[in-house]
Amino acid sequence: MRVILLGPPGAGKGTQAARIAERFGNPHVSTGDLLRFAVAWKTDLGMKAKRYMDAGELVPDELVLELLKVRLSQEDAQHGFVLDGFPRNRVQSEALDKSLSDIGQRIDAAVEIVVPEEELVRRLSSRASCPSCGRTYKRRDGTCDTDGTPLFQRDDDKPEVVAKRLRIFIEQTAPVVAYYVPQGLLARVEGVGTLDEVSDRIAKAIEDVRARAGN
Ligand code: AMP
Repeated sequence: MRVILLGPPGAGKGTQAARIAERFGNPHVSTGDLLRFAVAWKTDLGMKAKRYMDAGELVPDELVLELLKVRLSQEDAQHGFVLDGFPRNRVQSEALDKSLSDIGQRIDAAVEIVVPEEELVRRLSSRASCPSCGRTYKRRDGTCDTDGTPLFQRDDDKPEVVAKRLRIFIEQTAPVVAYYVPQGLLARVEGVGTLDEVSDRIAKAIEDVRARAGN
């Protein structure tokens, strides 16, 4: 199953992508995570990407596409994946379609998680993560429940950067949603509710899209 989860920062894409990936037995592929690893490992690509990420801007397409290509060529992604944080603009959507069609594959569904804007700002600016294992928390301080490391607020989750990320999302990412409509691949689900409720909605939306497309 090749699925894309779409939605603004703070919509719960990461959490839900992991849950949906597990449900369908496919890997969860997050370009944000791939980039953060590249930064942590100080790879050439990571060093180039860091300043864009710290500023809350999109990393140039060629860098993200390079990372994603390597990830999707790995064995565990051959039968499907749940993409989170990609595509972020039309160029990325088209590049993904092209590389899948080159190997006779296509996206099965794109699901947009919809959450009101004031709820997004509230969620994003009250979030922190563990610098050691990457686990995220809905609080801004304290230590990681897994390994005891003090939590920190990602530079791009500070309130001034949050507003900018949402603006960039609206300008550049909203057209991605529109890209999947004429292909009959788009479903919208409400992202407010319990984790299980939202996961169930997403899973049902994916099945509905596939049934409509006759897959
Ligand atoms: P995320 O964890 O998905 O919110 O991503 C964190 C940051 O990584 C974003 O603010 C961007 O700077 C960068 N990023 C992640 N995915 C992409 C992408 N598909 N295209 C460009 N930049 C990205």
